[in-house]
This record gives sequence, C-alpha cells and structure tokens, in this order.
Amino acid sequence: MASARDTTIEQVSDDRCTGCAGCYNACPQDAISMALSPEGFYRPLIDQDRCNQCGVCVAKCPVLSWQVEANTTPPDVYAAWSTDDEVRKASSSGGVFSELARTTIAKGGVVVGCAWGDGWVPEHAIVASWEDVVRLRGSKYIPSRIGGVLRDVVATAQSGREVLFCGTPCQVAAMALALPDEARDSVILVDLICNSVPSLRAFEQYRLALFGDDLDSYSFRDQTLGWTRFGVRATTRTGESYTIQFGQDSFGKGFLAALFLMTSCYDCQFQGGPRAGDITLGDFWGVPAQWSDERGVSVILANTAAGRQRVAELVESGGIEVQRSDFSVAARGNRRLISGQKPKPALRAVFMRKLAQGVPFDRLARRYYPMLRLSLALRLLLSQGGRRTLGAKLSQEMRAVLSKLRPRGRPR
Ligand SMILES: Cc1cc2nc3c(=O)[nH]c(=O)nc-3n(C[C@H](O)[C@H](O)[C@H](O)COP(=O)(O)OP(=O)(O)OC[C@H]3O[C@@H](n4cnc5c(N)ncnc54)[C@H](O)[C@@H]3O)c2cc1C
Ligand code: SF4
Ligand code: SF4
Ligand code: SF4
Repeated sequence: MASARDTTIEQVSDDRCTGCAGCYNACPQDAISMALSPEGFYRPLIDQDRCNQCGVCVAKCPVLSWQVEANTTPPDVYAAWSTDDEVRKASSSGGVFSELARTTIAKGGVVVGCAWGDGWVPEHAIVASWEDVVRLRGSKYIPSRIGGVLRDVVATAQSGREVLFCGTPCQVAAMALALPDEARDSVILVDLICNSVPSLRAFEQYRLALFGDDLDSYSFRDQTLGWTRFGVRATTRTGESYTIQFGQDSFGKGFLAALFLMTSCYDCQFQGGPRAGDITLGDFWGVPAQWSDERGVSVILANTAAGRQRVAELVESGGIEVQRSDFSVAARGNRRLISGQKPKPALRAVFMRKLAQGVPFDRLARRYYPMLRLSLALRLLLSQGGRRTLGAKLSQEMRAVLSKLRPRGRPR
C-alpha cells in the first residue's frame, strides 16, 4: 500500500519546496494550509485527519510535476520599454509589465501580481482597474503570499474573462498546472527572470530595526539615481526618508551575497529553458550600448504563439518600443536565463538558525557580513585562475539551454 509520503507533497523536502501554494490551491479536502517557516518562507502543512491520499497535490506541485516539454520553441527576444515615461521610470526595468496590464484591462480582463499587503507582507492580488495596477508595479524582493489566488484565476478564466498572471517562474509553473485545458487560452502567463527570493523574516527584522512601525512607503527599485544604479527608497509617517544604493543597504547586501535565500533558489529547476510563461520579463542587464537608457530597459522573451501575439499587439498599439535582440545577448548579462545554480554561502546555515531563534537582523548583519566579505574575497581569489574554465562552463550551459528548444511549428 502506498504511504502518505508517496501520495502527498510530503515527499517535497524543505530544500526543494518553493512555497508556490499549488498544492494548497488544489487539495479537494482542504487538508493543506500554508504557514511561514522559522526561516521566513511559505511552506505547506498537511492535516492527516482530512487527507485521503488522493494524490492531487502531487499532480499540481511544480517541483514534482512541471513538464519541461512545454514551451520548447526558441523565444523571440527583444529589448523593450514603455513609451509612457512616467510608467517607465516608476517600474523596475522598462515598464513592460504595466503596458501588458493596461491592454488586459482595456479588454475587460483582470491582472494578477504581487502587491504590498498588511504589515509589509507581499501577496498576490487580482486587480481590474488601471489605477490599481500601480499596487502591482515594482519588484518586491521577498516571497509573495499566493493564498487562494490560483483557484480564483481558474474560476475567472473558466468564465471566459481574460487574465494576465505575473510572478516568479515557480509561481507561474504552479498557475499553469492549476489551469484546466479549456481555461488555458484565457490566461497570459508572464514569468520573471528570477534571481531568488530572500527570507521574509529577515526583511521583517530589518524593517523593524530601521523604521520601527513607522514605515509609510518602501521601494526595492527606486530609479532616482538611474536604472543601473537602482536603490532602496523608504519614507516614514513622520516625514523622514531613506535612500541608498541597493548594494549599500543592509538587506540588499545580504540578498546580493545570497546569504538568506530560499533553499530551492540555490538550485532552481525553473530557470534556463524552456520557460513557464508565455512571456518572460526581466532587466536587460548588458543591453547593447545603442539601446541603453537610465530610464530602464526590459528584456522580453516571447515564448509561445500567444506570447508573440501579445507582444506584437503591444508594439502595434504604441504601448512599447522594441528592438529585436538575441537570446545569447540577453543571457550574457543575466546568468539566470541559463542556469538555476547559485553557490550557497557556508555561513547561510548559522545565519538562518540564529534568525529563526529570534536574534535581531542588525546584530546578525554586524557579526556575519565582515566574515562574508572575507569568504567572498577568498572565493574570488581562488576563481581567478579558473576564469577561463568559468567562461567555457557558461557557453556549455548556454548550448544546453538552446538544445532543449526545438524549431518553431508546434503549438504550445
Ligand atoms: C524576486 C524577484 C527576483 C528577480 N530577479 C531578477 C533577475 O535576477 N534578473 C532580471 O533580469 N530580473 C529579475 N527580476 C525581474 C525584474 O526585477 C522586473 O520585475 C522585470 O524586469 C519586470 O519589470 P517591469 O519594469 O516590466 O515591471 P514591474 O512593474 O517592475 O514588474 C512588476 C511585476 O513583478 C511582480 N512581482 C513583484 N514582486 C514579486 C514577488 N515578490 N513575487 C512575484 N512577483 C512579483 C509584480 O506582480 C508585477 O507583475 C526579479 C523580480 C523579482 C520579483
Ligand atoms: S493527497 Fe489529496 S487530500 Fe491529501 S493533501 Fe494531497 S490533495 Fe489533499
Ligand atoms: S506545490 Fe509548491 S508549496 Fe506545495 S509542495 Fe510543491 S513546491 Fe511546495
Ligand atoms: S529562484 Fe526559482 S525557486 Fe526561487 S523564487 Fe525564483 S523561480 Fe522560485
């Protein structure tokens, strides 16, 4: 007889789970709840008294069931930006997400993405007006709570209303698995090129240490100094403001050093190709000089026929301007397009253990950041001799991604 471990998502270890809530949304017995782990990531909990071992959660878990056979045609790649300067400057890269959202809303559809919720906890929300798209705009570099949104999207799509769903690739894969075939054509899936998500608990402690309960606005991607020199900008209710380059901010430093990321992000199965979304969006880091612009430049990968059609519509309507580019050009500045691997610092374990025990974030940062700098310097020194090997490894990885993409002609 099959055990609970074989038939449920209990077989997904904490190391692999992405917190996408695909299982929670799928369970017909309401036997799964989602809770924040001591490290600060969403994790499913099964109520064994309710579970009948039907196996549905396994079928809808992207870690176990995501089909890499989908979306295997080579993407059309563009450098792109919104023609609305206000939108462009207020967005993380070129503002393409907002322009996609604008056309969906103009057609009477709804847009789903990540907004700040109560207590500065991001959550996926469904919006139906252009005014509310502002809530979704901008990257929040912490996990977004999905709640029951996947179920709501399925119901909306089944009613024939168009949905634009945007999220990290693991969330988009969960959304794709949740959609029955007859509802799939009503949904445009947009996945982001995704570095990783850092711990929500680390962010909460950092926020309280810096601003107490006084925070009024917070942006991870403020463009005041320009797109390539983006920074954190926060304001408090008492009128104080805090602006700092991302790499100088104490949360930004730990994120960039990969110190407190979700474990599945160090070996992410949703990066590289084929992608989960009809469209992939990211920053066009390493954009060719003639298109570089401090107002922000997005990279678009149009992965499916539906994605290509949507991008063509946006260009025709004048919402975005595009320049045709190439996958290898886009991937040169954005390693996440070709690999889900990321070295895990040896200090992560002790940092996370202490964070989970409640040691304040600022104290941990003071203690471990200097050691982190030392180990990074050592790693750099050791890799100096291996730079050629690294270059060869990158081209090998790029070839592996391209070999998974077949010539066009198959429907999605
Ligand atoms: C956690 C994270 C890591 C990223 N890492 C990279 C990277 O390594 N390289 C790269 O090129 N681009 C990365 N991006 C994408 C990049 O930051 C921009 O989101 C992207 O370029 C689109 O920008 P935009 O100007 O079109 O729109 P924006 O308005 O900036 O995009 C906002 C969209 O991002 C979604 N979003 C915001 N925060 C979250 C979240 N926490 N979880 C899920 N969805 C969210 C919103 O729902 C909205 O749909 C990352 C984004 C996130 C959220
Ligand atoms: S096996 Fe079925 S009942 Fe049990 S948790 Fe999974 S989906 Fe729910
Ligand atoms: S569906 Fe998502 S949240 Fe559930 S076990 Fe799988 S990865 Fe984790
Ligand atoms: S790196 Fe991978 S596992 Fe982590 S949030 Fe992004 S898509 Fe999900």
